[in-house]
Amino acid sequence: MEIACLDLEGVLIPEIWIEFAKKTGIEALKATTRDIADYDELMKMRLNELNKASLGIHEIQEVIATLSPLEGAPDFVNWLRERFQVVILSDTFYEFAGPLMKQLGYPTLLCHKLTVDQKNGKVLDYNLRQANPKRQVICSLKSIYYRTIAAGDSYNDTTMLAEADAGILFKAPQNVIEEFPQFPAVHTYEDLQKEFLKASIEVRS
Ligand SMILES: [Mg+2]
Repeated sequence: MEIACLDLEGVLIPEIWIEFAKKTGIEALKATTRDIADYDELMKMRLNELNKASLGIHEIQEVIATLSPLEGAPDFVNWLRERFQVVILSDTFYEFAGPLMKQLGYPTLLCHKLTVDQKNGKVLDYNLRQANPKRQVICSLKSIYYRTIAAGDSYNDTTMLAEADAGILFKAPQNVIEEFPQFPAVHTYEDLQKEFLKASIEVRS
């Protein structure tokens, strides 16, 4: 049996923090895992910037409520789910992802959680599901004899892509493509479908 594992931000939906940075004008919040490979360093900086600006979960959720999946993403997810079991592996947070997952038909999502002060909405901390979360899911699926095909766009996906039976870079920036030439790199959903078919030993069309 085969399972398709997909990154979320940059693959199916826009980068939530970048959209939030545009709305609030906080330049530092435009940094993503594409720019800062160390996720802990990136998250500590984000929480610090939020607190400095006195912005909490409610302001972030207001912005997220205005976002849509990337053009073509819902159709791509439907195409994929007709052919594979699909799991979304993301470094986002359940508190952020809800409205967008609704627009994608609620595929299975494994991601992190925030600690929020219920009184004032202040984001106090973040809780990783586990260390190296994307790669660990692939290892787990392999341990129950599933064959895995994974796609992602950024540094935080590369251990997942390497551990999977097949890894695909989708809409990755040039520096990631050059650093990881072992993965095929595509930029449209049409080409991503072709890569999934190429990587599959079960699905032919
Ligand atoms: Mg991504």
